[in-house]
Amino acid sequence: MYRVRRAWRWWGLVAGLAWIAAAGHALGAECAERTAADEPLLAKARQVHAAALTLDTHVDIAGPQYATGQLDPGIEQPRLRCDLVKMVAGGVDGVFLAAYVSQQARNAEGYRRAHQAALERIAAIRRLATAMYPDRCELATTPDDVERIAAAGKRAIMIGVENGYALGTDLSNVARFADLGVRYITLCHNGHNQICDSCNPAARLGDREAEHRGLSPLGRRVVAEMNRRGIMIDLSHAAASTFGDVAAISKAPVIASHSGCSGVNPHPRNLTDEQLRMLRANGGVIQIVAVGGFLKSPAERNRAIADLARRIGVSAGDLAAASRQPEGRFRRELAEIDRRYPPASLKDFVDHIDHAVRVAGLDHVGVGSDFDGGGGVPGFQNHADALNVTAELLRRGYTAEEITNIWGGNLLRVWRRVQAAASPEGKAEEAIPPSG
Ligand SMILES: [Zn+2]
Repeated sequence: MYRVRRAWRWWGLVAGLAWIAAAGHALGAECAERTAADEPLLAKARQVHAAALTLDTHVDIAGPQYATGQLDPGIEQPRLRCDLVKMVAGGVDGVFLAAYVSQQARNAEGYRRAHQAALERIAAIRRLATAMYPDRCELATTPDDVERIAAAGKRAIMIGVENGYALGTDLSNVARFADLGVRYITLCHNGHNQICDSCNPAARLGDREAEHRGLSPLGRRVVAEMNRRGIMIDLSHAAASTFGDVAAISKAPVIASHSGCSGVNPHPRNLTDEQLRMLRANGGVIQIVAVGGFLKSPAERNRAIADLARRIGVSAGDLAAASRQPEGRFRRELAEIDRRYPPASLKDFVDHIDHAVRVAGLDHVGVGSDFDGGGGVPGFQNHADALNVTAELLRRGYTAEEITNIWGGNLLRVWRRVQAAASPEGKAEEAIPPSG
């Protein structure tokens, strides 16, 4: 046990160091890349970016203190990668803020707490738009809202609930969330829940590898109810079995609000090529995530750093200090490791967009950064950097129309289809008494 724990501490240090060294390295590269030769491309990027409706489908809010004096998203907020100032600076028109609930025990008390936590976070997001800064942003509950709000020069704020655990076992909570403005629900998070299997079973909760083998019977009813209410089904975090079940029974297109591609980096949180093809057939969209660890596996890089430390006799405890000595051998050789195993950057993020476009098709790809929930890579560290994404897409030959669809057009199309597939008013069927 002790050895295992020591090993984890060691790898934790290495991982932390990798991140610090990575950021410094790639930021330097980024500056060097912006040369005079890029000016015409940047001018074109600014033009395309300004004309596009730019949406990000997944940003976390760091808890219920969000949108209070303690955590004010109306200022240039150093603790947030997404705030109203950075959105304006980066020309980002709208964002889905996630009312996230961590997976805990599946019992009455657990469901009650999860539901309450979701309500508090939904209230925080609504507070931002309706009470704190109604002059600068507005709650959007339809694609038409988004277009109107963006045209007025304001930020569109949308609400997603991350983890269907918060629904408990009461189907009427789907309508309750919908009435509060929630427009997508991520069926699960880390750990299986009452709805479905997760791609990351939670050992701490006693999860087996597979539990329902997809959707549970309740999960099937949740999917039908979300279809009926016009709520988008978000399959980021879902197991492949869940993904297949939902794709088979959903009457509307689905989304993966923040995922990458296994074809570029095999990671449980990324979608396989088979899933990307299912998404195309379903009419849905994958919103590419900007979490470095999903975009690129740091295993080889971490191994190289650990080897180097061992070779020159730097202990785990001295690793961080050694990395800060600019003239030391450790630092010199670390620069070589940076060159051999460059950390994830904007280019890796766009590699995942490229792959999704090749496999799922241009109409099925968008952006879901996961800022303030682990997202952010050199070149796309926060919303103020959003122009860099457009510039990189242009550099790779995407047209203005294609970039516009990736930045928001595709998501709005899916959302409209989800709305159209809903029952009239999402309530008509409720009035019909069940037969038998
Ligand atoms: Zn997530």
